[in-house]
Amino acid sequence: MLKENLVTVENKVAEACKRVGRDRSEVTLIAVSKTKPVEMLQEIYAEGIRDFGENKVQEMCEKMDQMPADIKWHMIGHLQRNKVKYIVGRTELIHSVDTYRLAEEINIHAKKKNITVPILVEVNIANEESKFGISAEETILLVEDISKLENVRIKGLMTIAPYVVDAEENRLYFRKIKQLSVDITNKNIDNVSIEILSMGMTGDYEVAIEEGATMVRVGTGIFGERNYNTGNR
Ligand SMILES: *Cc1c(COP(=O)(O)O)cnc(C)c1O
Repeated sequence: MLKENLVTVENKVAEACKRVGRDRSEVTLIAVSKTKPVEMLQEIYAEGIRDFGENKVQEMCEKMDQMPADIKWHMIGHLQRNKVKYIVGRTELIHSVDTYRLAEEINIHAKKKNITVPILVEVNIANEESKFGISAEETILLVEDISKLENVRIKGLMTIAPYVVDAEENRLYFRKIKQLSVDITNKNIDNVSIEILSMGMTGDYEVAIEEGATMVRVGTGIFGERNYNTGNR
């Protein structure tokens, strides 16, 4: 069943790329496996998926220990500073950096390990009160500050668009993120190269791809609905 879901998502990704003349290789599909058991991750892994997204440090670390070593793990959830030490050096990318203090904490642990940690800055593009992320207006200043940290490298921007029934409603937000990325690039900030736009989820990834997403984070579309009764968000 997961295989069929994956084929459906993959086809939609490919079609969205085609519609706007982008190469399929420009977009990475991240399978968001939060709350799902490792058996399901293994099923998707067997179909060739290597990028997995998780939003909780402990859950991610447990799954890392049980899954093959060639997986690229993406931290996509709000990250507390006291948990940073558990994941530095183990993730492909941390998508959810929205404060200087968090970047600073990542930098400390990266320095200890003598590595550079790639990150994205999370932007709350619709200024939703319920969401993490920095406002678009404050993003450039934050990027400039973080760029001075030696062992952290900003690779792009991430956003969680509002929950909408019609994905078209989010097109303007994806456009705003794209524009913001161009504005940052034009500032020519040392150590910053905006190559990644992580935007688009099950409800709106096709529109996000049309507007320039290079990473889409799809959970429900691949694994089915999540059951939150277990207290796991
Ligand atoms: C859960 C989650 C997703 C996936 O959401 P779906 O709607 O199930 O595709 C994507 N990004 C983030 C940050 C998430 O927390």
